[in-house]
Amino acid sequence: MISINEIIEKSDAGEELALEDAVALYETDPYSKDAFIIRWAALRQSMELADGLAEIHAQIGLDSGPCPKNCQFCSFAMCNTRDPDARRRETPLKDILEYAKIYTEQGANLILLLSTEAYDFDKYLEMCQRVREAVGNQMPLLANTGDLTPERAVQLKAAGIDGIYHAARLGEGEITEIPLETRLKTIENAKNAGLKLSTCLEPIGPDHTAEQIARRAEQCMSWAPLTSGVGRRVAVPGTKTARLGMLSQPQNALYAAAYRLTDHRTKLIASVHSELMANSGSNLSWSEVGSNPRDTRRKTESGRGRTIKEIKNLLNEAGWKVRRGPSEHWTEHWTEG
Ligand code: SF4
Repeated sequence: MISINEIIEKSDAGEELALEDAVALYETDPYSKDAFIIRWAALRQSMELADGLAEIHAQIGLDSGPCPKNCQFCSFAMCNTRDPDARRRETPLKDILEYAKIYTEQGANLILLLSTEAYDFDKYLEMCQRVREAVGNQMPLLANTGDLTPERAVQLKAAGIDGIYHAARLGEGEITEIPLETRLKTIENAKNAGLKLSTCLEPIGPDHTAEQIARRAEQCMSWAPLTSGVGRRVAVPGTKTARLGMLSQPQNALYAAAYRLTDHRTKLIASVHSELMANSGSNLSWSEVGSNPRDTRRKTESGRGRTIKEIKNLLNEAGWKVRRGPSEHWTEHWTEG
């Protein structure tokens, strides 16, 4: 059987790793010597690929549940809503614009507008246009909203959106009410409309096998996203998947490092929750405000949301430089067409 050192040598040489090599990386004991070697190799590769630069992307939540798509890990899902009188809440336009202005002033590298599937699409387009006017043309603006028809993807582009955050979640169609095919179609429709892709292998829990993770990682890479990586499932109190628990930081860091070693193309690997992850090859993190499906607070900035400054300090402490202002990483790729 091939050793971890030999797999790393193949990765360092830029060779495509076989599925069994990737599985071997993902199933390594996160507290073993091999795990430390994997994380060290991933950090070295990320530093070289990204020239020591990390980024902070800023997420503004536009609304909160109940959402009919019933993703069992999401605090907005109808199936996780205990209050029968719960109603959707929307972040007012003036707050959205204020958040966007503050993020721009604080040097965010990209702004992302998050909504549930229940948000009215015409209204979502209007929010995109208003935020685009407020932040100027240089700031990469991403949509993280419901699934897209070809027409809607074109409409988003026309509204000033540069790309989408979209994921085919682990267990899609089984623990969500969205068929996997619909998620894949959205990615295709977005690309056909000229929208770039940010994705993540998520939400990973202790119940997922190394092979499930390695197979989904291969799929993520096949979409040639601008940013990718791994995201652990947050055990939000009251959600159906909370009882399954969360990955430890060392396990999460190992998975992010394994993803890095199998992906020779993506410069930004999500997602930095800790110095351990930043020291294991992850160099992308999100600051979050407004509503947040991984939180139960109405405004996540008073809960799990972190400020740009907090994340920057964490990344700097871990040895990363942090880009300031609109991401050239995205514009570099735009010029590549
Ligand atoms: S993850 Fe998105 S689509 Fe799924 S329930 Fe939550 S808001 Fe709805």
